[in-house]
Formats: sequence, structure tokens, C-alpha cells
Amino acid sequence: MRPTYDDDNIFARILRGEIPNDTVAENEHALAFRDISPKTPVHVLVIPKGRYVSFDDFAANASEAEITGFMRLCAQVCAAEGVSLAEDKPGFRAITNAGPHGVQEVPHFHLHIMGGQPMGPMIS
Ligand code: C5P
Repeated sequence: MRPTYDDDNIFARILRGEIPNDTVAENEHALAFRDISPKTPVHVLVIPKGRYVSFDDFAANASEAEITGFMRLCAQVCAAEGVSLAEDKPGFRAITNAGPHGVQEVPHFHLHIMGGQPMGPMIS
């Protein structure tokens, strides 16, 4: 069973152009923009353009083209933001929150790419 997608969530509205965003990169299947309330010097959100509530919804139900497009955009963001190990940079953290236990605020799947400083332990 898939979770119900809310077409009024804020990222759906960003994708429809109803709310502005600070775009970093985009392709046919995904959009990357700066988090409006950055927690680290690099804090970019990558979202699929399709209607997916969470990581597990996306992983189970997105097409291979959507998954590839999403992942390639993530790599592009890491390179553009100067955190990619592929370019000998110091790295980053990529996390996604899902549901109440993950403390997910926006019910449209998004990956946080965070870096520009040492990140510390996952749970303190
Ligand atoms: O992963 P989670 O759903 O908890 O986080 C949502 C993120 O979306 C927050 O980091 C928040 O700052 C960000 N956000 C944003 N632009 C908005 C609304 C929320 O970047 N218009």
C-alpha cells in the first residue's frame, strides 16, 4: 500500500512554481534547491518531480529513469557545492527523514545534502 500524497504540500507547490526557491540544479526528473533554513554551510534539498511521499515510497515505486535522474542530480549538487569525494573534497552527509519517527516535516520525499563543516555524530 502506498501512502497518500498531499498535492498541497510545500514542495509540490514549489514544483508548480507557486512558491519561489533558490534552485541549485535541475533535470527532467529532479530539482535541487537551498534549504530555506540552512543548518550547515552547505544545505541543499534534492526532490523528485514525481509525487512520492517518502524515501521508501520513491525507492519502491519510482521508475528507473526517475531514480537515475534523481541520483545523478545528487552527484551534480555534491560537485557544484564543493563537497564531493570524487573531487577530493572533504565530504558531506546525505539524510532523509520519513514519517513521524524520522521527524519528516514536508510529505514529499527529499534528500538533505549537508556539509561545509564536520558533521558530528548522527544522534547525540
Ligand atoms: O526533512 P524534513 O521534512 O524534516 O525537513 C524539511 C526541510 O524543508 C527543512 O529543513 C526546512 O527548512 C525545509 N524547507 C524549505 N523550504 C520551505 C519549507 C521548508 O527549504 N519553503
